[in-house]
Amino acid sequence: MFRSIAKQSIRTAQKVHYSSLPAPEPNPVVNYTGIFINNEWYKSKSGKTFETLNPSTGEVIAEVQEGGKADIDFAVDAANEAFRLGSPWRTMDPSQRGRLLYKLADLMERDAVYLASLETLDNGKPFSMSLTVDVQASIGTLRYMAGWADKNHGKTIPLDGPYFAYTRHEPVGVCGQIIPWNFPLLMLAWKLGPALATGNTIILKPAEQTPLTALYTAQLIKEAGFPPGVVNIVPGFGEAGAALVANRKVEKIAFTGSTEVGMKIQQASGLHNLKRTTLELGGKSPNIILSDVDMEYAVEAAHFGLFFNMGQCCCAGSRTYVQDKIYDEFVERSAERAAKRKVGNPFDPTVEQGPQVDKEQQDRILKMIETGKKQGAKCVVGGEKHGDKGYFVKPTVFADVKDNMTIAREEIFGPVQQILRFKDIEEVIERANDSDYGLAAAVFTKDIDKANYIVQGLRAGTVWVNTYNALGSQSPFGGYKSSGHGRENGPYGIEPYTEVKSVIVKIPQKNS
Ligand code: NAP
Ligand code: MG
Repeated sequence: MFRSIAKQSIRTAQKVHYSSLPAPEPNPVVNYTGIFINNEWYKSKSGKTFETLNPSTGEVIAEVQEGGKADIDFAVDAANEAFRLGSPWRTMDPSQRGRLLYKLADLMERDAVYLASLETLDNGKPFSMSLTVDVQASIGTLRYMAGWADKNHGKTIPLDGPYFAYTRHEPVGVCGQIIPWNFPLLMLAWKLGPALATGNTIILKPAEQTPLTALYTAQLIKEAGFPPGVVNIVPGFGEAGAALVANRKVEKIAFTGSTEVGMKIQQASGLHNLKRTTLELGGKSPNIILSDVDMEYAVEAAHFGLFFNMGQCCCAGSRTYVQDKIYDEFVERSAERAAKRKVGNPFDPTVEQGPQVDKEQQDRILKMIETGKKQGAKCVVGGEKHGDKGYFVKPTVFADVKDNMTIAREEIFGPVQQILRFKDIEEVIERANDSDYGLAAAVFTKDIDKANYIVQGLRAGTVWVNTYNALGSQSPFGGYKSSGHGRENGPYGIEPYTEVKSVIVKIPQKNS
């Protein structure tokens, strides 16, 4: 889980216990590249395919079937049929739904090394991370949500009058789920887990950069015994997402990705059948370091808070605010730490940083770095691409960053840390909140009163105190403001997949 890697990473400066990890499969065989509908594999109706690349080399891994509108509509019909009253899924005992989710988690555990290897090949994240974070947290999420399948209780309500009132928590119906490329398998688990526990049916669209682990999981879903049509997985490229949102039979869309696309989805959802939406979007999260901290710990934690997953985290601590008194030393130590970060082949167990997911992201990050330099921020380490092959970027640290600079306002989604200077707490709370985003934030201090005061003042969906990136399936995650709405994980993550039915029954006043 994130928590354990965070602990290890922060405490031991990246010394995860590599020796205890199993060896990866550096060339995992890719067996599933089709469109998964009704528990069967299909080719795209258009005959089109797209390439998924290995971002470490830029080489093609596989040709994947490119789902378009016709394939999405076919998948939606399958999901709609599976949701019909009287279908095997609708008549299944809730505890049995839970057992299917446990079974899926067990199959993922059986194939953990393969799944982690495939994730590393397709996404570029270090294998040590794919295995100990992505795959483990995915399994944990499915197990947590499996437990909810028969516990999504309604209430009895003391209504005025001769009535018995109660609520039923029912599934929303056919759900479209569009997941990103930064945590492909984990985002699949975050989406499928609560939707299946509560009895919905699904069309999931993986990101075009990283479709492979979702497609392998499709086969596990079949093996676990989910009825046909309950989960349909349609890879696509440029058309599938919008087609899913436009389909009137889809009643809910869950999306994780950019704020720009999130806004389009919310708009389009209103145009068709007023779909419910949950959106987990961008961030520019402030990480506030007060001057009383243990320097070594805080530097490492802030480093981990930004550089984890090649900086490709919506909750990355991408505005590191450091108090005046310790600013210069903090910058110097952060630069030293970033310079030591080991970049390279993600299958090497000692590597901390693999490539960015694709050329587009690499170019975008390099352009942001240039903008930072032009606008007067001081690049103290890195600032360019790493090597000639693949999409690597050197760990980069900027000092003397001002709030109005582009690199302090816009999401970079790469290994680029911005360090800003502040004097006092009132000032830093105001500056931290001066952002369109509100996904996450953190504060580091030994003073509990100051920590609580800052926590209360920050407008963000998650606030960490003396840690960063600690997440778990039990605790809600989601954003304020333009970072989206709705929460994932924990009981809060069950709600968006539940319709509440109010049932009011007349009670006869006399027994005749
Ligand atoms: P993106 O643009 O946010 O999302 C791409 C996904 O959205 C694809 O699956 C695409 O499907 C779908 N999509 C695009 N237009 C759509 C529409 N009008 N309606 C419905 N679905 C639509 O992701 P990106 O281009 O890969 O990344 C851009 C930036 O997003 C990154 O630089 C980063 O800042 C941010 N990002 C954030 C997260 C996060 O965790 N919050 C994750 C990834 C990226 P089709 O291909 O079928 O159109
Ligand atoms: Mg790929």
